[in-house]
Amino acid sequence: MRYPSVTINLEKLEKNTATIVNLCKKHNISVSGVTKVFCGIPEITNAMVKGGISFIADSRIENLKKSMCFNLPKILLRLPMLSQADDAVTYSDISLNSEYVTIAALSDAARRMNQTHKIILMIDVGDLREGILPKDCLNLVEKILKLKGVELFGLGTNLNCFGGVIPSFENLSILTDLKNKIKEKFNFEITMLSGGNSGSLHLLESNKIPKEINNLRLGESILRGMESSYGRYLDDTFDDVFIFNAEIIELKEKPSVPAGEIGPDAFGNKPVFTDRGTIKRAIAACGRQDVNISGLRPLDNLIEILGASSDHMILDVTKSKTDYKVGDVVKFSLDYGALLSAFTSEYVLKYYT
Ligand SMILES: *Cc1c(COP(=O)(O)O)cnc(C)c1O
Repeated sequence: MRYPSVTINLEKLEKNTATIVNLCKKHNISVSGVTKVFCGIPEITNAMVKGGISFIADSRIENLKKSMCFNLPKILLRLPMLSQADDAVTYSDISLNSEYVTIAALSDAARRMNQTHKIILMIDVGDLREGILPKDCLNLVEKILKLKGVELFGLGTNLNCFGGVIPSFENLSILTDLKNKIKEKFNFEITMLSGGNSGSLHLLESNKIPKEINNLRLGESILRGMESSYGRYLDDTFDDVFIFNAEIIELKEKPSVPAGEIGPDAFGNKPVFTDRGTIKRAIAACGRQDVNISGLRPLDNLIEILGASSDHMILDVTKSKTDYKVGDVVKFSLDYGALLSAFTSEYVLKYYT
């Protein structure tokens, strides 16, 4: 094995998926498995497919293209760029939308290709990322229903992102309410109500999800075994599907405070140091070009990460019970940001177990 690397336990990932799919099934909710954090790598998507997801969802067309080998409907999560309308229709079956011009462009593209593209209309219920305001819904729906080539398949919302707003019975009920109004006014039945991401799972545990919500788009919770509104681990899931590995290239006893006048570090910040006397310091061969260091946590919890430059990570191993040597490998868990960065870096190798 070479380093730095991420090891991925596909069996644990499949089990996490199955556990969460079953939890959702009890509430009549289908799962869109979100593949963007791991850039849509087919081996990893396959574990989620085996675990029972119903849709494959990603923000990027590039990633959805890698999933063409799976016989499940594809959802484009990020609002399509106007310039992307043709690709959106070619590589996804369903896309999330909030702009009439884009929906009209999808309609044109789909008609040219003799296809029907499904639309999930995004409603902003408070987080202030994508979506129309609820008051604008009926007017827009009226226009969408007149378009050929597109089918208004669902309503959706996204929370926990820009504004950090936590999903609740109240804010998700806005979707139910709009679905009912659309039925009343246009005699049109909305098929899917997609009630958010991994931040919505806490509502299932407390039985507070509106019963009309029938889909969730889940990435982080499946990958890390954690709901993301309160950061709680989910029952019967693994939190160690992904492990980051880095190799020690220097190990020395050195002072904890640098010598000389302190100027900016490699990233323009002026570092501050606490004097802990002489410490045992390890340098691991990885850095900010590989992974978001602040999202790593050493599995040996007596190790402390002191910092990192582009390609060196400095560890305090003084208190560890392990007698580390040059050539040893240190293992870390990864948070969402660390996963995202490690999968995006071409320097980080990926191994499957
Ligand atoms: C990324 C994304 C998700 C998945 O979020 P997780 O927190 O990983 O579950 C769901 N919906 C949209 C629109 C997204 O962009």
